[in-house]
This record gives sequence, structure tokens and C-alpha cells, in this order.
Amino acid sequence: MESKLFNEIFLKGKRKQVSFTKTTEHKEGDVWKEKGKTWTIQNGIKITISVLDNIRKETHIPHLCPQCNRPMNKKLDVKFYTLFKMCMDCKIEEDTELIKKGKFDEYAKEYTKKNKLNWFEDLKAQLADFIDNHDNQYLYNEFGEKEEWSKEMSKEELKKIFDKQIIEIEKQINKS
Ligand SMILES: [Zn+2]
Repeated sequence: MESKLFNEIFLKGKRKQVSFTKTTEHKEGDVWKEKGKTWTIQNGIKITISVLDNIRKETHIPHLCPQCNRPMNKKLDVKFYTLFKMCMDCKIEEDTELIKKGKFDEYAKEYTKKNKLNWFEDLKAQLADFIDNHDNQYLYNEFGEKEEWSKEMSKEELKKIFDKQIIEIEKQINKS
């Protein structure tokens, strides 16, 4: 249960905070301050504005590649843009240049590590936030169904589990 939960929320790239506090005080689209954070309700799910902004930033794909101004109409362009902020052709060109200069290996290694560290920082913040807001939480599984579980575990138990996972992940990243 514990690691299934952990995997579902944090490791499958679900960046959206999936908590939902039972409240009738706020409705869809409302924006308010609570515990030092700005919150809103989107599709019935209570999320922090900063989390929302990140989702927007992450999913906003312009029509034209900012590097070459050509339309990004290939499926892979979207993926490349999300990762590298340029279209697939530009990225391939760039990598080809790097390969020619014999620098690709060095570059790829650095990118991966940096990316992992960013992701890890993000993850730790999300976990801390998750524990903070533990009471009365629901999770949405990948089918969009609501799963209640907060009563199954105390904040302390949760923290213990997450701390263990964090140490494991940190070990893995440092090894890479
Ligand atoms: Zn381009």
C-alpha cells in the first residue's frame, strides 16, 4: 500500500498535487489564501497556485519553435519542446553539432544529473507539502477515481515512509 501510494503520486510523473480537502467554502475557480499559500479549485481539485502555474508552464507549447520559427506540428516536437524548449529538428541539429565536437557524452551526463536533481528537489517539496496537508485528503488514481486513505496512516507514519524513500532516491541519483 505504502509504496503503491508513493509510486502513484510521485513517481509516475504526476506533478499535479492530488489532494482535495472537503470544503464547501470554495467553488471552482475561487482563489484564496490559506496557511501562507494561494489556493484555487480546478476541476474539483484543490491545488496551490504555484503548482497550477507549473502545470501551465509545463504544458504550454507554442505553435512555432522559438529557435527556428518553423511550426511544431510533429508529435515528437511537443515532447522535445517540453524537455528542451525547441523543436525536434533544432535539437537534433544541436546534438549533431555537439557530437561533431566530441562533447555529447559530457553534455548528456550533465543534463541527466541536473534534471534529476531538479526533479528531486521538487519531489521533496511536494512530499513535505503532502504531509503538511495530510488531514482529510483524498487521492485521485489514474482512472480519476477518488481514493480516501488519510485515515489509514498518521502524519508520523507517512513521514517515516517518505523519508525512507527519499534516502533511497538520493542514493540512486548520487550513483548516476
Ligand atoms: Zn526549431
